[in-house]
Amino acid sequence: MPDSSAARRTGHTGRSYWQVLVRAVVAAALVHTAFAGLFFALSAPLMGWVNVASVALYGAAYTLLRQRRNRAALVLVWAELLVHALVATRALGWESGFHYYVLLMMPMVFMSPVRRARSKVLLGVALAAFYLGLDLLAHHHAPLVVLTPGALDAVRTVNIVATLALLAHLANFYLRAVMRAETRLHDLATTDPLTGLANRRRALDVADLHLARRRRDGAPMSLILGDVDHFKSVNDRHGHEVGDQVLIAVAQAMQVATREADTVCRWGGEEFLIVLPDTGPAEALQVAERVRAAVQRAQVPHGGETLGVTITLGVSTLHTMESLSQAIARADGAMYRGKVEGRNRCVGDAPDDTPATQRELALEY
Ligand code: GH3
Ligand code: MG
Ligand code: MG
Repeated sequence: MPDSSAARRTGHTGRSYWQVLVRAVVAAALVHTAFAGLFFALSAPLMGWVNVASVALYGAAYTLLRQRRNRAALVLVWAELLVHALVATRALGWESGFHYYVLLMMPMVFMSPVRRARSKVLLGVALAAFYLGLDLLAHHHAPLVVLTPGALDAVRTVNIVATLALLAHLANFYLRAVMRAETRLHDLATTDPLTGLANRRRALDVADLHLARRRRDGAPMSLILGDVDHFKSVNDRHGHEVGDQVLIAVAQAMQVATREADTVCRWGGEEFLIVLPDTGPAEALQVAERVRAAVQRAQVPHGGETLGVTITLGVSTLHTMESLSQAIARADGAMYRGKVEGRNRCVGDAPDDTPATQRELALEY
């Protein structure tokens, strides 16, 4: 399970990388088309043809991406960036600003889906060596094509603006990938994997939040604790996997029978807790009864017949200054009474309105 979810995560981030690459390839093809026109207009046909070749390479990379030959496309894009930076810097000189694109490749290398960290470091070192070599080459050899100072300024300005725009795009891509991973981790940490319901941790967080609000505005709050009846015999007779399907059906029924503001959670095993904000005892019992009836109606098809289960529910409404665990203990006590009284029923908290745990303590003295 953790392996497959890790694979899904990698796949997800990987897909985004390729989606960004498709957009980058289209943008690069457009920029190089503009540059080709500019250089032909500036009477620098060599650079004009270099840009035409770049457009052709990006066209090929686009086709490869569409054919899902992603890695081949990536190699082509990286080769184009390096060769173009080399040719343009050698032809027009360092001042043309074509070397800035090489710097952009460093984050691209480290964000790429290349798996091994060592390969990324090697690629990064190779890139740094290439950049230093380009710097030395450009500063020890005069440009092959001499542009007017105004034209050179224009080319450099375009390159600086394009580099900054691409940098902003890359940073945004990285931030979105991190935020997606964060959301996914949060979901994994707060969701029950079998039923998709909130897990115990999330239910306690939600209940704590409502409790804090209740202390401020005094709004009532109730809890329902449910336990599937004779669930062990479902497992024993039909197997654990069928038991799991029944639990999923129970969870769905509970979710449908509750209100939007209520939080249904898998408390553990075949036990469920429902947190009901702004809800007094009478209304909480009504919700519990709706849940009980919905679970009884839920059926799981199995071997030509259908399987059904029932649930026993205990309800408690928080007393002033009562802690969550005390209220849960009272709901548990009520549920236990429901089991003793015959199951498949809803039972309100202690009739004398005293928390069960306190009653037990009082009995000890
Ligand atoms: P009662 O009416 O008194 O609650 O009877 P019960 O059989 O439901 O009570 P018990 O607590 O003895 O049994 C609960 C069973 O739930 C035992 C356990 O194997 C099963 N169980 C707990 N978690 C899971 C799960 O995730 N999947 C399946 N299939 N079974 C589970
Ligand atoms: Mg149980
Ligand atoms: Mg049970």
